[in-house]
Amino acid sequence: MIIGKIDKNEKKISFQLNLKCSKCQKKVPGGMKSSESYFGSEPFKIEIKNFKKNYLCGICRDKKRIADKK
Ligand SMILES: [Zn+2]
Repeated sequence: MIIGKIDKNEKKISFQLNLKCSKCQKKVPGGMKSSESYFGSEPFKIEIKNFKKNYLCGICRDKKRIADKK
């Protein structure tokens, strides 16, 4: 998954995020990518925070998708 935007000629940084599903609390290792200039910046931190807050594991995401269809 990519945090922020990465321009074609920008250096990428790969990092791991300890994600937890916001619904079932299951822990999921998240392999993330960000651009070098964005990594560690204030908007980056906010985005990570919101991402973690809204994160759903694959199972819960599927359940939500089915529920949204009804
Ligand atoms: Zn879940």
